[in-house]
Amino acid sequence: MRKLAAGNWKMNGTAAALTEVQALLGAHPAPACEMLLCPPATLTARMAELARGTALRVGGQDCHAKPSGAHTGDISAEMLLDAGATHVILGHSERRADHGETDAEVLAKAEAAMAAGLVAVVCLGETEAERDAGQTLDVVGRQLAGSVPEGSTPATLVIAYEPVWAIGTGRTPTLEEIAEVHRFLRGRLIARFGQPANEMRLLYGGSVKPANADDIFAVPHVDGALVGGASLKAADFGAIVAAL
Ligand code: 13P
Repeated sequence: MRKLAAGNWKMNGTAAALTEVQALLGAHPAPACEMLLCPPATLTARMAELARGTALRVGGQDCHAKPSGAHTGDISAEMLLDAGATHVILGHSERRADHGETDAEVLAKAEAAMAAGLVAVVCLGETEAERDAGQTLDVVGRQLAGSVPEGSTPATLVIAYEPVWAIGTGRTPTLEEIAEVHRFLRGRLIARFGQPANEMRLLYGGSVKPANADDIFAVPHVDGALVGGASLKAADFGAIVAAL
């Protein structure tokens, strides 16, 4: 499968930041991997316009489970699609923490995203306390079972394993720890979806930088990365793209 370099801009970036996208496209017009950037919703359409006809795909960072209605401040999967998005990040730990999103809610959003024709990038990951308590596989197994829709395929689902304690901290699990979780997730996906699950992308996320990308991408069952801080600068994200 082609690997995926995905960037999550989180709540960062105004129109001025689009110069980074132009720089990225100039430096990496035909990357070996797939390239995805998920800007704040205010930039989706403008970034999609810049990305038209290029190797870059554009995604949202969340969507509502319903297609439309009285939900002030929310955005539906259909709206993201209309703005030019192809993917949407769902169940990021910051949304699970800041907005109390449950597995059931993430599942409903992922179903809505897939029904609208978006690829759902479903995020999982343990907190530091859960890792210290030896519960990592239990936690990610429960999140996987609870937030991934029936009928998911390699074309509709991407999983991102992001240990909460590794996000924005500069700390990462050891390569063995990443390997253990990704091997476990692959096994669970195959048990549920059969052999096609070998082609479902499993991204690692949490303090991925140019300096550690080569090592992380060499870990079995790591099919790309979900990059936060280092996706904001074309030089850093480009170096990660090149490592894939
Ligand atoms: P950082 O790369 O900044 O640690 O963020 C990771 C992340 O949360 C991507 O979704």
